[in-house]
Amino acid sequence: MAEGESKNFIEEIIENDLEKGVVKEVVTRFPPEPNGYLHLGHAKAICLNFGLAEEYGGKCNLRFDDTNPLKEDASYVDAIKKDIEWLGFSWDKEVYGSDYFDYMYECAEALIKKGLAFVDDLTAEQMREYRGTLTEPGKESPYRERSVEENLDLFRRMRAGEFEDGEKILRAKIDMSSPNLNMRDPAVFRVVKSPHHRTGDKWAIYPMYDFAHPLEDAFEGVTHSVCTMEFEDHRPLYDWVVQNCDCKNVPRQYEFARLNLSNTVMSKRYLKKLVDEGVVSGWDDPRMPTLSGVRRRGYTPEAIRDFCERIGVAKAVSEVDVRLLEHCVREDLNAHAPRVMAVLRPLKLTIENYPDNETEMLTAEDLPGGESRHGVPFSKHLYIERDDFMEERPNNKYFRLYVGGEVRLKNAYIIKCERAVKDADGNVAEVVCSYDKTTKSGGENSGKKVKGTLHWVDANTAVRAQVRLFDYLFLEQEDGSYVTNENSMVVLDPVLLEPHIKTAKKGDRFQFMRQGYFAIDPVDSTGDKLVFNQIVSLKDSFAKQVLKGN
Ligand code: ATP
Ligand code: MG
Repeated sequence: MAEGESKNFIEEIIENDLEKGVVKEVVTRFPPEPNGYLHLGHAKAICLNFGLAEEYGGKCNLRFDDTNPLKEDASYVDAIKKDIEWLGFSWDKEVYGSDYFDYMYECAEALIKKGLAFVDDLTAEQMREYRGTLTEPGKESPYRERSVEENLDLFRRMRAGEFEDGEKILRAKIDMSSPNLNMRDPAVFRVVKSPHHRTGDKWAIYPMYDFAHPLEDAFEGVTHSVCTMEFEDHRPLYDWVVQNCDCKNVPRQYEFARLNLSNTVMSKRYLKKLVDEGVVSGWDDPRMPTLSGVRRRGYTPEAIRDFCERIGVAKAVSEVDVRLLEHCVREDLNAHAPRVMAVLRPLKLTIENYPDNETEMLTAEDLPGGESRHGVPFSKHLYIERDDFMEERPNNKYFRLYVGGEVRLKNAYIIKCERAVKDADGNVAEVVCSYDKTTKSGGENSGKKVKGTLHWVDANTAVRAQVRLFDYLFLEQEDGSYVTNENSMVVLDPVLLEPHIKTAKKGDRFQFMRQGYFAIDPVDSTGDKLVFNQIVSLKDSFAKQVLKGN
């Protein structure tokens, strides 16, 4: 964060802690559960946790919260690491919740010995009934007063695999009449007879999140454990665990508002369903709000970090307009993406007074006003955008091409449309033009003014490619729920590009002049055929309407 900008509430807490000597070094962690791919919401938590460590010269661990063997998988671990590195962060230690199962088990035995945990035989359904509600206190389990010896014996037998899933559970003994439901004898360890992606068959019992998380933080010396607001009510339990397990390091939990984006669903469970049902091509489908999806689409990590910086960190939950993210992407690409000409819906254009069999090399700036340039071939046979031509001028605000009208071809000449040639169905198949040789861009007479400038490509040297245009993957219904947008992708094939594009590599990003920003799809492009994903359109309605308040 730049000097002089206001601090968020977590930065204020940290600065106060450092000043008072409560902590010497800031240690944070980013704790994904390896049960899916990271999404844009995670980017906020990543920027926050890694950003705080960077800002205060501390450390941030990457911790895989893998305490639920039923949903987790090693394949997600690699994808998560790749995404964090792509965002531009590096972690101090790579750790796994499962690394601490032995310690956690010992902590649980210690709680039993202190009379602070007991083995319960109630079924899940009975436990729910006994739990009470927000307005009614809960009822104590009939198994709550088992002796320490009996509890230890049963817990050890749980570990040994003598009981089936749900048959027994270890619970903390706290307070069934607490107004906070999380404190009503919460579960600590449960039986799950399922192999784990790291510990294999070693365990038949697994710790619950609310028990595991504070212990992991404490074991690692985390000082500031930041999580989303849903965990605010869990904080008393977090503190209870740290205190009663006699942890040497005392981490503190702080909650911030999760990122919600308009037109976007960010729940791994929901996104996994789209993948499993084949609604999208995979977790990295360019329409997905996953980090792998937006990376493939062409978003830059710089733009995502800029976005996270701009939305800030606060406690009030709100929805951020997805157009702010697009604005950040557009701003970054506008500064860095080379310009090329691409004709998405080609219409043949012939310059009748241009010499046959001649091709001249014109030059084009890679970036407006920049030094670097590339060559663009020009000849008698060109293509322009079908949308850039109408036989008759519809009104006096129309500055594109029409019969009798003049336009400049970008980086080339001013041309005049002489006539349109139609096919058997009466559709315009070709426009025939004449050019004025003296109007070459950058030449003596290039000062001649016409209102419209069109992009174009040379027919002989054009490169054929596929372009995918995207709309939002999710449509919000009146009741606030989402359905998937069946028209979220339009494929244009073939589109025509200037030959300069042959030097591009997978993943490269371009501005197609007058069209938008596009990136070469790294998965579907082949040596013979490039496939482009639309990253974002050129038009920035958000900057106009929201940022400038018009
Ligand atoms: P989901 O609900 O999408 O499955 P999750 O919270 O279960 O997400 P985790 O892997 O447990 O996913 O999350 C890792 C970290 O990322 C947690 O600290 C969590 O609070 C944070 N996080 C998840 N979603 C968001 C979000 N939308 N905004 C900010 N932080 C988030
Ligand atoms: Mg989760």
